[in-house]
Amino acid sequence: MKRVAFYTLGCKVNRYDTEAMIAQFEEAGYQIVDFEQQAAIYIINTCTVTKQGASKSRKITRRAKRRNPDALVAVVGCYPQVDPEQVLEIAEVDLVVGTKGRSKILEFVEQAINSKDQLNFVQEMNEGEDFEEAPIQNFTERTRATIKIQEGCNQFCSYCIIPYARGSLRSRELEDVMAEVERLAKHGFKEVVLTGIHLGEYGADKENLDLVKLIKELLPITGLERIRLSSIEGTEVSQELIQLIAEADKLCRHLHLPLQSGSDKILTAMNRPYQVTDFKEMVARIRAQVPEIAITTDVIVGFPGESEADFEETYQLMKKLKFSDAHIFKYSKREGTPAASFEEQVHSKVKKKRSKKLRGLTAELALNYQQQFIDQRLKVLLEESPDYKTGLLTGLTDNYLRVFVDGTDDLAGQLVEVKLKEKEGRLIGSLE
Ligand code: SF4
Repeated sequence: MKRVAFYTLGCKVNRYDTEAMIAQFEEAGYQIVDFEQQAAIYIINTCTVTKQGASKSRKITRRAKRRNPDALVAVVGCYPQVDPEQVLEIAEVDLVVGTKGRSKILEFVEQAINSKDQLNFVQEMNEGEDFEEAPIQNFTERTRATIKIQEGCNQFCSYCIIPYARGSLRSRELEDVMAEVERLAKHGFKEVVLTGIHLGEYGADKENLDLVKLIKELLPITGLERIRLSSIEGTEVSQELIQLIAEADKLCRHLHLPLQSGSDKILTAMNRPYQVTDFKEMVARIRAQVPEIAITTDVIVGFPGESEADFEETYQLMKKLKFSDAHIFKYSKREGTPAASFEEQVHSKVKKKRSKKLRGLTAELALNYQQQFIDQRLKVLLEESPDYKTGLLTGLTDNYLRVFVDGTDDLAGQLVEVKLKEKEGRLIGSLE
């Protein structure tokens, strides 16, 4: 049996794409092995969001060939889509596929095995493309599955390479999403995370379809206990969606709304489609209807032109909006995007200092948020593997709190109700 190994860099959408490729190889009888093992085929699903993503992709590619010089090494995804020439220059690469065509990866690999030449299957992205259907059969972690329902983005934020790497907006057919979720629920998955590059635009390219309509169709699926949304633009959270979160028990009280900056000047330079007031109003509207909701965010520090005063506005806004968690990114120049050529690039030491300050604030905010729930009873979806440090079972509440539970192994994978206590900054769930 031929052995194939996968490596995934980057976001949730990429992880889904890898699972969809794995499904094709499993069906054809290949054995999937860990990337650190000897394999006949290595497939690297790359990321190009930051410069580091591209250089890491190159490093992993070389590592695969060193492990087995006779192996076929395929580099797929965003990096070759944006810069196929640069990937083709890597001597260790045998096959290159972009973000389009991954549903044919098995066919491409089999062609490459029979070819002495390096093969390039990167295809141009055109307007009005259809969503490329490539279902998954399984997911490495068996309680929660990420489902890709949307691809591409038309927003063109000035720092972001994604619209160039993944093309314009396209939505997956409602029937295909439903079939996939039904199949996963039948296999025991209790939670699905709906994800996409621009999730809130789901359905914008179809007649009579939007995210709320899709969620309403998914809610009655037997065996499915939770639906979670991955990152969504605040401007795309409709009144109907907020109401659905307030009313439907299965829809998680958690929204990840990327803020990126608390300065109007920087938001404009970023080409973000809102100003600070819009964002504040949106958060207030959501909390008025779902008071305990977890609102998490992304912030970029050190964007070109970000002064100390701009940064301070971001700091104060984060504090005011009381996010329950945040990912803080230091701006990294991405060639091919407008912001890469902006003047007033911020020095790396300043970015580091600002990032540290926001990470400190994030930790405080996260702790404050979790303290609201002490002594409350909440449901936790326990993961299959216990926490490797404590040996305790662990899982998430619907509002994205990580809880540790001292329970027996048979509870793994189950949704259990616990009473929350805090110990050394951690939430401990007791089953009594
Ligand atoms: S909305 Fe902006 S940051 Fe998000 S994928 Fe589109 S261009 Fe990139």
